[in-house]
Amino acid sequence: MKAPAAVRRIIETLAEQHPDADTELHYRNAFELLVATMLSAQSTDARVNMVTPALFAKYPDAAALVRAKQASLERQIVSTGFFRQKSKALLGMARMLVEEHGGHVPADMEALTRLPGVGRKTANVVLGHALGVPGLPVDRHVLRVSNRIGIAEGDDPERVEAQLCEALPKELWTRASDVQILHGRRICRPKPMCEDCAVRDDCDYYALVVTKDITKKPAAKRGRPRARDPRRVRTPAR
Ligand code: SF4
Repeated sequence: MKAPAAVRRIIETLAEQHPDADTELHYRNAFELLVATMLSAQSTDARVNMVTPALFAKYPDAAALVRAKQASLERQIVSTGFFRQKSKALLGMARMLVEEHGGHVPADMEALTRLPGVGRKTANVVLGHALGVPGLPVDRHVLRVSNRIGIAEGDDPERVEAQLCEALPKELWTRASDVQILHGRRICRPKPMCEDCAVRDDCDYYALVVTKDITKKPAAKRGRPRARDPRRVRTPAR
């Protein structure tokens, strides 16, 4: 794994390549971001953004959501998938916010992850983007990008989060996640577009796999590198 100074430089370079990196979920406060992030599991941000305006108009806060009828809630979120589990989790989350936190979203990892349906990734998204508390959400893109570049190691999100947090100052945690997510969506896809990558010269995968793959191929067949990824990590589908 790379030294902290190199990790920081790489993240800053990715931030220059993706200056618009931010969560793509639409929200106006921590409650809305919590709901949107819970809905985004096994879905897309674009799909969630189509559902949430009407949802937030009907249930603007935890006190309103806790009074929702499950069947009605399910109908509103059906297009995001897994609507039964999600509606149950949303109702449970709203109940706990009302009963234990005065209807507010707590700015605390432990309290957030005690809410039904809220894991560490969701908690970090809300902490980092809506509550001003440094958080580094690790999703499948962060796992893939960080392992390929060599700034983290392993397929356990919590372990990768700890490695990146250790190497980076707190003020860069959320940014580090945002830029890697966007890099993973746009460039370092499962089939990476290394020719367009700003951190190619620092990337272990490029040095160890892609360049070797290029040199092995007959000249006539050389094109965009197609490499099998020995560092591929198993990540949940979303
Ligand atoms: S050089 Fe290729 S594999 Fe490495 S981070 Fe960039 S796109 Fe991903």
